[in-house]
Amino acid sequence: MNAETTASTASAAFSAALDVVRSVEPRIADAIAQELRDQRESLKLIASENYASPAVLLAMGNWLSDKYAEGTIGRRFYAGCQNVDTVEAVAVEHAKALFGAPYAYVQPHSGIDANLVAYWAILADRVEVPHLKKFSKRQVNDLSDAEWAELRAAFGNQRMLGMSLDAGGHLTHGFRPNISGKMFDQRSYGVDRATGLIDYAALRETAREFKPLVIVGGYSAYPRKVNFATMREIADEVGATFMVDMAHFAGLVAGKVFTGDFDPVPHAHIVTTTTHKSLRGPRGGAVLAQPELSDQVDRGCPMVLGGPLSHVMAAKAVAFAEARRPEFATYAQQIVTNSQALAEGLVKRGVRVVSGGTDNHLVLLDVNDGFGLTGRQAEQALLQSGVVTNRNAIPQDPNGAWYTSGIRVGTPALTSRGLGAAEMDQIADLIHTVLAATTPAAGSKAKFTLDPALADRISKQATELLAPFPLYPDVTLD
Ligand code: PLP
Repeated sequence: MNAETTASTASAAFSAALDVVRSVEPRIADAIAQELRDQRESLKLIASENYASPAVLLAMGNWLSDKYAEGTIGRRFYAGCQNVDTVEAVAVEHAKALFGAPYAYVQPHSGIDANLVAYWAILADRVEVPHLKKFSKRQVNDLSDAEWAELRAAFGNQRMLGMSLDAGGHLTHGFRPNISGKMFDQRSYGVDRATGLIDYAALRETAREFKPLVIVGGYSAYPRKVNFATMREIADEVGATFMVDMAHFAGLVAGKVFTGDFDPVPHAHIVTTTTHKSLRGPRGGAVLAQPELSDQVDRGCPMVLGGPLSHVMAAKAVAFAEARRPEFATYAQQIVTNSQALAEGLVKRGVRVVSGGTDNHLVLLDVNDGFGLTGRQAEQALLQSGVVTNRNAIPQDPNGAWYTSGIRVGTPALTSRGLGAAEMDQIADLIHTVLAATTPAAGSKAKFTLDPALADRISKQATELLAPFPLYPDVTLD
């Protein structure tokens, strides 16, 4: 099938699917159709979002969803899982080849789930196994009540070193609102105040003093490359297991933009990811690991995961196959070219960008500096102008984690639509115009005024900018 036939076949499939859904619950069909209309018209700069291909989307809408398949390939708690075994094995094969990993686990339903699988694999390896040995028992069910109590206390007393939230870390890296912060005694590392870059010397000092069981690398809002070789060296020095959460930048690893010291896979003991951000797959998660952790990761379901979503594993397999094509490397490189063009466009218009630029798919703007706005005011003003972003804390943020002083913008989605560096400069202009025209309301971190005519003009410009780059152009909705 050539590309044109594929597009028209996919469009017919989407239309048929909408008709079928409409025959049962029209409001749901309408919401699905409206979502495509909205996405077509919005300038999507959310760094964690993307547009999956029709093949990825269609692989999810089928009867694989109806099958229970707890367990792992060839070892299920249910009969009749031969097709799920095929799906999972193909996804694993692609994931291993794509990332050069010795082992892959594709069942996690999301990034948070992937991190939970990884944390419990590490705790099993570093805490449970030594306790079982000490008590000369084979498995936890063999432990006496006293031994079990000792092991449970030990699980809850372990240390984690993760990136601070205002430096770009994620809630699941040991912060109190998330279960990881309730499980682990967490301490953070951050960035150098002047450069905005990870301070590896300070990280080493903290690791030496704190002696964590786990060091977590990876981020949601750090605009630079991370030296995973250095982090592994630090982990080895203090006897920590080194985990990297590459949820945000997995597409850049898959597309060989991050190689050598900046590729987490050869350096970490265990790597987690989402599959829906820069990787452009279905919403989901995955874990890659060194062989010594594979048995523990395989216990993810039913340890912390419900039965695998077989239809989503099918879509992950399709997405990994797409990411193994040479075009994906071109796409990944373009994400970064676009992100750098966007950062340059903002900097030359006088916007302060954290760390002065970017090496990856995201740019972090300081909207307090120069504009006197909170992230929340800027996010809403941009949204009224048809520019979809999200507010984000910046290092040493004076406005805290809720209102923040930053705006995070990312290029994976618009790069999927085909926009390039020239359009990024125009987008920088739209963003700057809105920020400069927004006036914060006195005494409020949320309210602001913005001339509706200006917001309307920017919105129209955003739509015009997108017009040459249609989204699913073959899908007709009315
Ligand atoms: N890890 C990181 C670094 C993330 O940025 C995110 C989501 O934004 C997650 C994990 C959680 O992913 P999910 O929403 O799929 O659970």
